[in-house]
Amino acid sequence: MKISELKSSFRSSLQGLYPSEEVQSFLDMLAEKYLSLSRIQITLKADGKVSEEASERFEKAILRLKKQEPIQYIIGETEFYGLLFKVNQHTLIPRPETEELVEWVVSEQASTTQNAGHVTILDIGTGSGCIAISLAKNLPNSQVHAVDISSEAIKMARQNAVENRVEVDFFQTDILKTKSLPTGEVQAEKHYDIIVSNPPYVRELEKKQMQPNVLDYEPETALFVHDNDPLLFYRVISRLAKTSLKPGGTLFFEINEHFGNEVAELLKEEGFTKIKVKQDIYGKDRMVKG
Ligand code: GLN
Repeated sequence: MKISELKSSFRSSLQGLYPSEEVQSFLDMLAEKYLSLSRIQITLKADGKVSEEASERFEKAILRLKKQEPIQYIIGETEFYGLLFKVNQHTLIPRPETEELVEWVVSEQASTTQNAGHVTILDIGTGSGCIAISLAKNLPNSQVHAVDISSEAIKMARQNAVENRVEVDFFQTDILKTKSLPTGEVQAEKHYDIIVSNPPYVRELEKKQMQPNVLDYEPETALFVHDNDPLLFYRVISRLAKTSLKPGGTLFFEINEHFGNEVAELLKEEGFTKIKVKQDIYGKDRMVKG
């Protein structure tokens, strides 16, 4: 089969299921992955031949896309903060909002002169490891730890740390049950300069606005909280953080856009100061620090 034929059969198989720009971006991503060809190259080499093996891989991808599976799970990876992360159904697909959270932590850290840049960090609910690994990469004097409830997610996150050539210590922990946060080899209270978390924050009642690619494929434990206690993780984490943060340390959260004031209020009640709610590029309350 020629590349031009592959392209047109791919487009017609998915026509009507996705907007055409999205089909084009799937095609670009799959061509890059399965044919090692860039967007420009698949246009220039329209007469080039596609191997039997590659066209079978495209066929399989089409079947999965027809069932609304996210393209990131199909190709098994995604980009986040300029790095490549492997993902599977045990890990949430990193979102652009979370890149903004990482950016906030990095820029805040750059503006402090504490400890000559040496900084200890804990990421809670690490998933693919995207926050922990991006911070380790961008804050060279950091020591980064990360926890998740899912041992499958931790497996993936460890692999991502290796692939991105950073050292991060991962711990399997149920944050709702643990009495203290892991600190690695040293058992010390007040260990961390920074604690960061993007916990589950989507309410069950918000499910009806969500797409099947998220609902049918992404890990529920990473996404949802009960309608009657939407701030559960924020309360538990901020309490644990109080004993684990160094004096002057900072807690950063990604939040549900509807709960900026509530999370800020909760942090205040827990004794945090210098609380700030920050909007994402869409102008929605998306991050809080204290
Ligand atoms: N921002 C994610 C979404 O829109 C939710 C992430 C989370 O629950 N922490 O699906």
